[in-house]
Amino acid sequence: MAWPQTLIDACYFIAALLFILGLKRMSSPRTARGGIVWAGFGMLLAVLATLLLPDMHNRGLIIAAVVVGVTAAWWSGRRVAMTAMPQMVALYNGMGGGAAAAIGAAELVSHAQDLAALVMAPNTLPLMPESWSPLREAAAVTPLSPVALALGVLGALIGSVSFSGSLIAFAKLQGWLDRRFVFPGQQAVNLLVLAAAVVTGVVLATGHITIALVCAFFVLALLFGVLMTLPIGGADMPVVISLYNAFTGLAVAFEGFVLQNEAMIIAGMVVGAAGTLLTQLMAKAMNRSIGNVLFGNFGAAAGGAAQAISGSQKPIEAADAAVMMAYAERVVIVPGYGMAVAQAQHKVWEFAQLLIARGVKVKFAIHPVAGRMPGHMNVLLAEAGVPYDLIVDMEDINPEFPVTDVALVIGANDVVNPVAKTDPSSPIYGMPILDVADAKQVIVVKRGKGTGFAGIENALFYADNARMLYGDGQAAAGQLVTQLKTLDG
Ligand code: NDP
Repeated sequence: MAWPQTLIDACYFIAALLFILGLKRMSSPRTARGGIVWAGFGMLLAVLATLLLPDMHNRGLIIAAVVVGVTAAWWSGRRVAMTAMPQMVALYNGMGGGAAAAIGAAELVSHAQDLAALVMAPNTLPLMPESWSPLREAAAVTPLSPVALALGVLGALIGSVSFSGSLIAFAKLQGWLDRRFVFPGQQAVNLLVLAAAVVTGVVLATGHITIALVCAFFVLALLFGVLMTLPIGGADMPVVISLYNAFTGLAVAFEGFVLQNEAMIIAGMVVGAAGTLLTQLMAKAMNRSIGNVLFGNFGAAAGGAAQAISGSQKPIEAADAAVMMAYAERVVIVPGYGMAVAQAQHKVWEFAQLLIARGVKVKFAIHPVAGRMPGHMNVLLAEAGVPYDLIVDMEDINPEFPVTDVALVIGANDVVNPVAKTDPSSPIYGMPILDVADAKQVIVVKRGKGTGFAGIENALFYADNARMLYGDGQAAAGQLVTQLKTLDG
């Protein structure tokens, strides 16, 4: 059953509206959940309308693929832990890029001159069994316009890079690969591979399409994605993940032009634009240019051994920490990845409410890359019910640390590490941090002497004004609550 084109166009228009309105709603934590649902309905409508296109073939196969994909996504989406979200995002990103590249590959193969020559050869055609009809169709395919061909090749290049790069990012975040894989002459090798991929792509885009060239092009593009991502690590990972997100959007939009599918063009553009803006925001927050993220490394310029950190870590009991904060005027709570692991946000907010009830001015400080995904801490605090006006961004809270009596760091490490400012050999050198060390007293909640994502020592933990409250984040916050209640009672 096929629908008239005008009805399908109307569905695409409604889907586009839902994508844009959904994205708009995602810009605030209050409406974000609804925004995701709206955009999801938009995608459902676009997929259903596409299935009803008059010239759609192989509906059965497509539906079977959709069922497999949806089942896998539903199952993995329900099981994934909040702390494993970046891997999940990287994987889904990669799948999108791979799908766009696969469209490009199918188009290029169907326009390959050697394939057409083979299929159309006088003595091949009569011998060809009916079941080879896809090949016959391929040979009879209408040529693409030069613009569509160029966009198809560009989309395939970007999609392939996003696919293989995202898979490497996934493996790194999952802990399957070394965080930073560097070798001498790496940038030169990367540039050579990229140049070869681009040259092959240009030849294809000018219409000289052979199966061998198509294969070479995809091997080079996929290889470049791998090579480009291998050396990136430490504080650059969030920027790279959102860059690949933007790449995937662009690749989908370009392939949408090739297939003349409006829904793909609009969805791709929306993802590409949003991903580009997010990449810029993340890079700005990390004080880095995109080029620097891709072709340089934090601290790589200086090299050498890390500066020695003097002093010792000084433990504190929950009772003393609670008293310190109970009689403070201003307390700033700095959450990090450890709060997410411990799922301590509810206890932390309970503790903050008890402090507020005693007249203490409490704020929450958010670093743009705290946790393992953009907005990770905002999501957790919103889930616990922390009012938005108590949540303050890095630029706004940093000037307040010198007048803060106690900074309570809970499960944060890299984002409060002063070596980012003082040690040029550090892998996080240059990354802006929360200036927690400027507070009069600092209490750090963590389980032991574990390092953060960047895998380095933290000078803050050895500072004269810092005390360590060792323990799981949730248990420590629970102890603070109990101690404060004892004090009140
Ligand atoms: P970190 O990863 O630097 O540190 C987390 C700390 O939490 C560790 O030192 C660990 O110490 C402690 N911890 C772990 N589990 C618990 C627990 N159950 N209870 C209490 N403490 C715990 O976190 P930050 O948020 O400071 O920094 C984020 C890092 O992740 C940055 O380097 C950033 O670049 C990177 N990143 C961020 C992404 C993003 O988009 N936000 C994406 C990918 C990477 P211990 O083991 O001793 O308990």
